[in-house]
Amino acid sequence: MRKNIVAGNWKMNTLPSEGVRLAQEIVKNFNDDSVELIIAPPFTHLSEVSKVVSESNVKLSSQNLAKELKGAYTGEVSGEMLKDISVTHSIIGHSERRTYYGETDEIIAEKIQTALELDLTAILCVGENLEERQAEQHFEVVKKQLKIALEKVNAEALDAVIVAYEPVWAIGTGLTATPEQAQEIHAYIRAFLTEKYGEEKAQSVSILYGGSCKPDNAKMLFAQPDIDGGLIGGAALKADDFLKIASSF
Ligand code: PEP
Repeated sequence: MRKNIVAGNWKMNTLPSEGVRLAQEIVKNFNDDSVELIIAPPFTHLSEVSKVVSESNVKLSSQNLAKELKGAYTGEVSGEMLKDISVTHSIIGHSERRTYYGETDEIIAEKIQTALELDLTAILCVGENLEERQAEQHFEVVKKQLKIALEKVNAEALDAVIVAYEPVWAIGTGLTATPEQAQEIHAYIRAFLTEKYGEEKAQSVSILYGGSCKPDNAKMLFAQPDIDGGLIGGAALKADDFLKIASSF
């Protein structure tokens, strides 16, 4: 069966020394084999945090990666560099990358390919903005994002893909999709995967919810049949809150 997963996206928060302390606190207090716990600190923290998590069952993710493998790409970080310091996951297509840095579905598809070629697990983010939700276009928007991102991903490679549904209007706003709203679109995502990859494969993919997920709403969200955990922003910056969310299954 699919895994329950809680992933923390630290975004551009914490200094490296603070990040190491946060990771230490998480590692020290986490001992639940039934949940996969992933943290995604900024690039500058990854080497040191990698040492902190090395003997634990906490996994390490980047928040992004270059679509190219190596070469003259100033300011970029390659998947091989990440692998060399034991990073195992990469968040790809976060709405902040799409909105502020012009990442298109096509760029995201290339990044997914790069991650999978390098045996990194891709945490693929999809989700509609407020305007699209109000116009009731959210199903269409998410379908297009999935279709392009997964176009070249075959059934075998799908084992290394986690999908995160993150309605943009709920990210960092304190607004959360209701469990019913979230379940509705998670079921839709699973139906999309079923159509493309078959029932068995689709049932094996973890689909996370992201958008103001906190200790007090995680339980209701994770109780939904197609919600397999969360991608957590703000609440991932406090070890206590993050671990409470991880114990909400
Ligand atoms: C995110 O950015 O992935 C996120 C879900 O943020 P927050 O939990 O702060 O809404």
